[in-house]
Amino acid sequence: MSALGHFVNGAALKANGGRFGDVFNPATGAVSAQVALAGAAEVDQAIAAAAAALPRWAATPSVQRARVLFKFKELVEARADEIAAAITSEHGKVLSDARGELMRGLEVVEFACGIPHLLKGEFSENVGTNVDSHSVRQPVGVCAGITPFNFPAMVPMWMFPIAIACGNTFVLKPSERVPTVPLILAELLTQAGLPPGVFNVVNGDKEAVDILLTDPRVAAVSFVGSTPIAEYVYQTGTAHGKRVQALGGAKNHMVIMPDADLAKATDALMGAGYGSAGERCMAISVAVAVGGIGDALIEELAPKVRALKVGPGTDPDSEMGALVTRQHLEKVRSYVDSGVEEGAELVVDGRGLSLQGYENGYFLGGCLFDRVTPEMKIYREEIFGPVLAVMRVDSFDEAVKLINAHEFGNGTAIFTRDGDAARTFASTIQVGMVGVNVPIPVPMAFHSFGGWKRSLFGDHAVHGPEGVHFYTRLKTVTSRWPTGIRAGADFSMPVMR
Ligand code: NAD
Repeated sequence: MSALGHFVNGAALKANGGRFGDVFNPATGAVSAQVALAGAAEVDQAIAAAAAALPRWAATPSVQRARVLFKFKELVEARADEIAAAITSEHGKVLSDARGELMRGLEVVEFACGIPHLLKGEFSENVGTNVDSHSVRQPVGVCAGITPFNFPAMVPMWMFPIAIACGNTFVLKPSERVPTVPLILAELLTQAGLPPGVFNVVNGDKEAVDILLTDPRVAAVSFVGSTPIAEYVYQTGTAHGKRVQALGGAKNHMVIMPDADLAKATDALMGAGYGSAGERCMAISVAVAVGGIGDALIEELAPKVRALKVGPGTDPDSEMGALVTRQHLEKVRSYVDSGVEEGAELVVDGRGLSLQGYENGYFLGGCLFDRVTPEMKIYREEIFGPVLAVMRVDSFDEAVKLINAHEFGNGTAIFTRDGDAARTFASTIQVGMVGVNVPIPVPMAFHSFGGWKRSLFGDHAVHGPEGVHFYTRLKTVTSRWPTGIRAGADFSMPVMR
């Protein structure tokens, strides 16, 4: 059995004793590898390598840093099938979805390739007589990234391409459930010409995270994961003087107005609710039926949920793969049990699903609840599985009120033909990412991704312009080159004349 280690200072770093975790193939339930769980020594080595590489990399012209990323993009594209297969084998999502996430990650690399343009500062001539002022954005230093299981390629690629393009060095601590892909990406960055130490990977768990959050050599931390850990990372990191952006969990509502095209809306709900087995932070988990269309919505939706093709991610016919671990499967199943106990109507029950030849896989069929109410646990909490809740409200205003009252504010969508309703929704909803007839409004790489409320802690969203701001510090230089007679010291507060 292979033992996956770390990647430090331009080379693979094998575990030297210490703790290990099992990596599973969710489709079969078999252990596919062991992953080293870094302790203080390995994390220290990674931070030290990143700190040592920093001065030279920060001083490397941005155009040269961009060229490394151009080459990296080509290398990733050449191995895309292998990377997608690795995602599917550890996460369980279907191969087409794995390829899609890699593409979304590569779009951030494409954005980061434009870094010379993005780092251009501002200049004002003659802010005072013969005085000029300019501002530049400089790297923050050693950056750390802590990422979740559900996007083994894309979420790390939301972070490191921009961080290193801006002249920082990076230590990535990926999810211990999906350790293979980040190690491949590290190898490809090295092949692309990235100097040793600029990008490092330490596999591990809380022990590694806590060192990254407290080590004074780390200047900035990007986190994506569940809300309790995001809050912990934000509080601990900022208490140790670091800049932190911490993205958390979600409960994304899709509002279906009475004038919506129901066939299109239900197709959208299928992909957004059950794609990737609901293990997406932008998955739609609540459908809000407005003004009496609940019955028609359920009538259209239920047969589609029953017909969902669930199977191993490697089967091209599968629409939905397995959940990531047995514990997660049990957790999602227990949410379904609790929905039934609390009185929601379980229209489609996926709990009895068993797949021939994959009896030990972590599969759950699509589940559909109707008549869910705000006090139910299945509404209040993030389930992160293939469970869609339908709620019925009388009016548009009631739908908006419901969404705005929820603790999460990651994504939301409205399906309607009414421009006025759509515009009012987009303008007043207390959510960071909004779709109008678009169920999963994940912003492109040149915009920024981030939720509101308890879906994001910190001041910056990820990638796009916000990413460049997060990974740089602003410096403003005011200069005068005196040509006349020196006037001597001036002890009053300087005022430009
Ligand atoms: P998680 O919070 O369990 O783990 C995320 C990372 O934190 C992992 O690297 C993990 O090793 C580490 N970690 C776990 N427990 C820790 C602890 N006690 N102390 C320090 N570090 C710890 O999340 P997950 O289960 O891997 O991912 C699913 C969650 O991520 C969902 O809640 C989902 O909504 C969220 N997510 C959010 C976004 C977003 O953009 N907002 C994107 C993807 C996933």
